[in-house]
Amino acid sequence: MSGFGRVFAGQNFAVLGLGKAGLPAALALRGMGATVSVWDDDATLREAATGFTVMQPSHTQARLDALVLSPGIPHHLPQPHPQAAWAAAHGVPILIDAELLYRAVRASGSAAKFAGITGTNGKSTTTSLLAHILDVAGVPNAAGANLGPAALSLPRLSESGVYVLEMSSYMLERLATLRFDVAAMLNLTPDHLDRHGSMAGYAAAKREIFARQDAACTAVVTMEDAPSRAMAAWLDGQAAQVVRIHTGDAPGAGPALPGAHNAQNAAVARAMARALGVGEADIIRGIASFPGLPHRQQEVASFAGVRFINDSKATNADATARAMACYPRFVWIAGGIAKAGGIADLAPYFPRIEKAFLIGRDAPTFAATLSAHGVENEIAGTLDAAVPRAHSAASSGVVLFSPAAASFDQFLNFELRGEHFTTLARAGRG
Ligand code: ADP
Repeated sequence: MSGFGRVFAGQNFAVLGLGKAGLPAALALRGMGATVSVWDDDATLREAATGFTVMQPSHTQARLDALVLSPGIPHHLPQPHPQAAWAAAHGVPILIDAELLYRAVRASGSAAKFAGITGTNGKSTTTSLLAHILDVAGVPNAAGANLGPAALSLPRLSESGVYVLEMSSYMLERLATLRFDVAAMLNLTPDHLDRHGSMAGYAAAKREIFARQDAACTAVVTMEDAPSRAMAAWLDGQAAQVVRIHTGDAPGAGPALPGAHNAQNAAVARAMARALGVGEADIIRGIASFPGLPHRQQEVASFAGVRFINDSKATNADATARAMACYPRFVWIAGGIAKAGGIADLAPYFPRIEKAFLIGRDAPTFAATLSAHGVENEIAGTLDAAVPRAHSAASSGVVLFSPAAASFDQFLNFELRGEHFTTLARAGRG
């Protein structure tokens, strides 16, 4: 991290959780002059933290200015981590790296703006799209946080710059002073209820994206689900200017990305870009030229009239439904570790399936559901077997890999699964 100077000189932080964001946070805070100790319950990760004082936060002698707690580690429900409980009992603030980025930016004398995006689905897409629009408009920007890179890996921007931060509900619970000039909540459907206790708890965490906003700030909210509409009503009593996004608000140009869900993402990104002062022409150009993120309905190959769509990010039936809605007819590749309910909710789309090729642990369960609905299917077992067979079968012109299942029976993560599909699709066998 560069350009901040020693803005945290004399401050003392403990970093707990040395995953994707923890180690960059520790390095950045030390680079900015702070005293930093690190800890992870996993010894392998502790050993990777060379050059740091490795100790549990509760063993720190001097007073801690904050415990920087990884979003994956609970401080409340279902069970607070013992170190988080210790911090709470001793009045040590529990913060997220984005809060410290904000403090560093301000302490370094920059008035750069902050844009924050949350919601149950579409966060990464909308964050990248807004950053792309800003690129097109020539506005210096740095995008990251939940989507990566970690907040404290982002460079210092001067006052004409904009930070575009994807904020998960876990991160939002750990802010203290960060104020988003422009903030958006895309949608709110039940998720992560183990950590938030209830839908009300989840909504309360999401509401933090709008905390501390004043009359110069903009709050963007959609009107497509009841919790979002309730948020809009709450926002009317707050100081920020509220922009409501309604279903069918078509962006000025057709987004390059398919589906009604991407139209929602584009409409939100447009409203945010406007609030940041971007002109309509740049917004339209940005939306039209956005290439999309990998593994989310990404067209990765096309041979003799057959298009191969990589939607490996779809790890549940709900996400797969979004993809299926975009193609009138397709050959489907799916399977892996199914979520509760399997693929039963996809039944309205079954008539669109020319044939299904099933992989992974729960292939037999998916096959049984499809057969019960009279959908032609075959258990291929692996992607290596499924892709060439799907290619041969696809007279509809589309091979859709949208697994509706988690990947970890056959792959480390959805990214590697999508890359393997892409390699096979591009090999053009069949
Ligand atoms: P997140 O970062 O919130 O997980 P992504 O942008 O990575 O969201 O999109 C993940 C998946 O969620 C997509 O493949 C798509 O199926 C679905 N999705 C994207 N945008 C939306 C939206 N606005 N509403 C509902 N589902 C969406």
